[in-house]
Amino acid sequence: MKNFEYKNPVKIIFGKGTIPKVAGEIPENSRVLMIYGGGSIKRNGVYDQVKNALKNFELFEFGGIEANPHYETCIKAMEVVKANNIDFLLSVGGGSVIDATKFIAAGALYEGEDPWDFFTQRFVIEPKAAIPLGAVLTLPATGSEMNWNSVVSRVSTQEKLAFGSPLVMPQFSVLDPECVFSLPDRQVANGVVDAFVHVMEQYLTYPVNSPLQDRFAEGILHTLIEEGPKVLANRNDYDSAANFMWSATMALNGLIALGVPSDWATHMIGHELTAFHGIDHARTLAIVLPGMMNIKRHNKKDKILQYGERIWGINQGTDDERIDKTIDKTVAFFKSLGVPCTLPEYDVPAETIQKIKERFKTRGSKLGENADIDYNQVEEILTDRL
Ligand code: NAP
Ligand code: FE
Repeated sequence: MKNFEYKNPVKIIFGKGTIPKVAGEIPENSRVLMIYGGGSIKRNGVYDQVKNALKNFELFEFGGIEANPHYETCIKAMEVVKANNIDFLLSVGGGSVIDATKFIAAGALYEGEDPWDFFTQRFVIEPKAAIPLGAVLTLPATGSEMNWNSVVSRVSTQEKLAFGSPLVMPQFSVLDPECVFSLPDRQVANGVVDAFVHVMEQYLTYPVNSPLQDRFAEGILHTLIEEGPKVLANRNDYDSAANFMWSATMALNGLIALGVPSDWATHMIGHELTAFHGIDHARTLAIVLPGMMNIKRHNKKDKILQYGERIWGINQGTDDERIDKTIDKTVAFFKSLGVPCTLPEYDVPAETIQKIKERFKTRGSKLGENADIDYNQVEEILTDRL
């Protein structure tokens, strides 16, 4: 195990009927800006629940955050924050709304010229302050409700980049599994795949003798494999929705990353597919992960074999045969949820691979737990998915 420090200050309020509890979590006399997406919360009753709960606050609203939230929209929200002296942000939605809220929270207090600096100069320019925020999560997937990451897209330059800061961790997140009931199939499938790949990015690396972390990771994978299809089959199955929701939060709240290496190359490459083609985040991961497992099969061999055996019961054949079967099982699982796993199925042409390769060449950074995936390997991984 590697050394680590761990602090996760996000208070989780979990369960049926918990949305009204937001009122008790926001400091009295706050001027609150409620931030939401394209309107799903108005159709499923979450909007009314939040509005009723916050009757005694000065409440402002900013709707229209897009899936894969746009920088341009977040900048408009920062203007609303400044114009109205907002001192608390309440995010009501999925990962896109929470990520946008994190950026708005830090960007509104940024003293430099353009808060896009957080993304382009990550680890150099970090937020020094942020407006406190809380979240009502409506879509289990990203873990954003209990972590410090934010991913934002800049439409004008076709970029999708991430920043992170402990300052933008929510003060609290309310997780009412009944929000799952109104999700379309596509978003349930996306949520299962995103959470699954979050675990894989922190599990499928190289061994560091971390049996507890491995079993936490495997426990989440097993639960997603069992509960995901149940949620798809019956949207009103409360217990499956609850287990799905908690699994997605646990997949990316820092816990399973402690003391072990992390990869994140699948996410970095996937972001480029969204940037150029607007493909749903989780679907980009379903494309890239099998290519990553195939091309990095030597570096990741021990963990792929362990994953194949413990998750899919694969223990026959040579190492390469077992790895092939394990990749096939992973693809079959994603496909069983209705998520295609190759580039042509999303009409992505081979030229896109060259554009993505060029981007990684220009950035010069290397990806993966060994920092050994350069632009040529990015090309190999994507070519594997044609
Ligand atoms: P999302 O983009 O927040 O939402 C997808 C769609 O689902 C939207 O159209 C939304 O509609 C709808 N929706 C949300 N809740 C609903 C509900 N209860 N009922 C019906 N429809 C609902 O999806 P997401 O997968 O949670 O977030 C994806 C974003 O998060 C990507 O940008 C990705 O890169 C990022 N991400 C962040 C992290 C992180 O750690 N921060 C990790 C992974 C991915 P409305 O707009 O109408 O609400
Ligand atoms: Fe993700």
